[in-house]
Amino acid sequence: MTGGFLALLGEVAFRLLEPWPLKVVVDAIVKPNARSQPGVLRVLLLAAIAIIVVAAFRALSSYLMTVALSLAGSRAMTRVRRDVYDHMLSLSVRYHGKAKTGDLVNRLTGDISRLTDVAVSAVVPLAGNVVTLIGMTVVMIWLDPMLALIVVAAFPVFLMTSARDGRRITSAARVQRRREGDLAGTVSESLGAITVVHAYGLEQELGNRFASNNNRSLREGAKTTRLSAGLERRTDLLIGAATAAVVFAGGSQVLSGHLTPGELIVFVTYLKGAFKPMRDMAKYTGRIAKAAASGERIVDVLTTDVDIRDLPHAKPAPRFAGHVQFDDVTAAYGAGRVALKGVTLDVPAGSTVGVVGESGAGKSTLASLLLRLQDPVSGRVLVDGHDMRDLTLASLRSQVAIVLQESVLFATDVRENIRFGSATASDEEVEHAARLARADEFIRALPDGYDSELGERGATLSGGQRQRIAIARAMLRDAPIVVLDEATAGLDGDSEREVRAALERLCADRTTFVISHDPEAVRHCDVVVRLQQGRLRAISTRTGHADVG
Ligand code: ADP
Repeated sequence: MTGGFLALLGEVAFRLLEPWPLKVVVDAIVKPNARSQPGVLRVLLLAAIAIIVVAAFRALSSYLMTVALSLAGSRAMTRVRRDVYDHMLSLSVRYHGKAKTGDLVNRLTGDISRLTDVAVSAVVPLAGNVVTLIGMTVVMIWLDPMLALIVVAAFPVFLMTSARDGRRITSAARVQRRREGDLAGTVSESLGAITVVHAYGLEQELGNRFASNNNRSLREGAKTTRLSAGLERRTDLLIGAATAAVVFAGGSQVLSGHLTPGELIVFVTYLKGAFKPMRDMAKYTGRIAKAAASGERIVDVLTTDVDIRDLPHAKPAPRFAGHVQFDDVTAAYGAGRVALKGVTLDVPAGSTVGVVGESGAGKSTLASLLLRLQDPVSGRVLVDGHDMRDLTLASLRSQVAIVLQESVLFATDVRENIRFGSATASDEEVEHAARLARADEFIRALPDGYDSELGERGATLSGGQRQRIAIARAMLRDAPIVVLDEATAGLDGDSEREVRAALERLCADRTTFVISHDPEAVRHCDVVVRLQQGRLRAISTRTGHADVG
């Protein structure tokens, strides 16, 4: 930044010097009998050399300025992009449940690129122009205060005419940017569910919706272009008027001998230079406004509070035995949407708890509390007697393994996918976990074995296979607490048997929560609890049954 600004000052100085050789030449040749004056040719030659030297130094400093400032800008934005991504990852599941993925992607890629681009290609030149403007105004006042006044008077006129347009351009650009975010949201949602789109023949409907949003974005875009083109041309007219005034008044000054013809040339050249920032301002307003809208969208993400995070006093958790207690826990999604109410439950280490209940009863909410994906509104969740909120998130989550109904795999090879369970695991450990999860056999049958690349979200495998890879991943984690959220739902006979066998191994000697709507899936559990509309209704153990609540 410092180097860039020094180069910028150099550039401005040479820009100020640029018309002076011309002034010397003009003043030398318009003198009466110039041809017969001795040394006039030498003056011309020196002036010509000076023009080349000034041009060369101006080019050099301009080059250094662009490179240094662009580099600084790009580096800063690269950092911002990383920070934004880190922040997005740390935002809670609840935030992401509401946010549109495509829109977030668009902010991370589109908005940040636009901001970088504008910072480098518009803000930097504009800053240079402003410094130039100040320098030129000073020289003009020194040359002829009266003429300088005409130029200076044009600025407020410009500001008055451009303020309203500037505001309109900014608001149109903001709307356009928001529409583009919506578009990206629609696209990522529909492409993510392409099977449903094809199956229900939604192509036409989605296409129409996209087209209407797209057209609205176009209209706003056209409006910005129209407004900023209008502003630019009006600025041209203003510059024309000011130039006419200066040429007329300056010409009279030359006639009356207050100004030399060369000085008038310097003046008119400066006039052009001084008005350049105005013209650029008109030209860049649209782009800067769009970048500002982009900036707002980024700041929006960055200022979203991470609601689930380490509290200041949080300590790393010791290795858990796995004793889990829910102590009068109430959980809710926003005001009024209570998902669990006054749940109290004591789960001894190493036991298996079945959690049953109808859809919407609060089973998944219970699971999310175990991973501290959300905090209870009131009450506490304790592990081995520690309130979860007193422990650091990383140390807590590393001791809980989860297998979901739709296990999501990443678009990388099988080995990496299992290794997500524990980053430090060796290849042998990965394969051992796969064997325990009954996945080794089918993985070896894949074209590249453990190195086979999977499709996005693991789409190239069957449901049962994905599930067994997910179990291997959980196995590798070697966590004292395991959560199975409908892990066998939606599988057919054979594959369900395989998955069930793998799960049994995973859960041996660990505290396990088996969440299911299917009584069959929880038959072997030590305890089964029934949830109904967020309340704990019944607890059955192998030895008895009790209704509660
Ligand atoms: P289950 O797993 O038993 O089907 P859930 O725990 O998913 O039930 O949901 C319990 C209640 O919380 C339901 O009434 C559901 O509508 C509500 N709920 C679940 N997730 C959200 C969410 N992200 N935002 C708002 N409400 C939610």
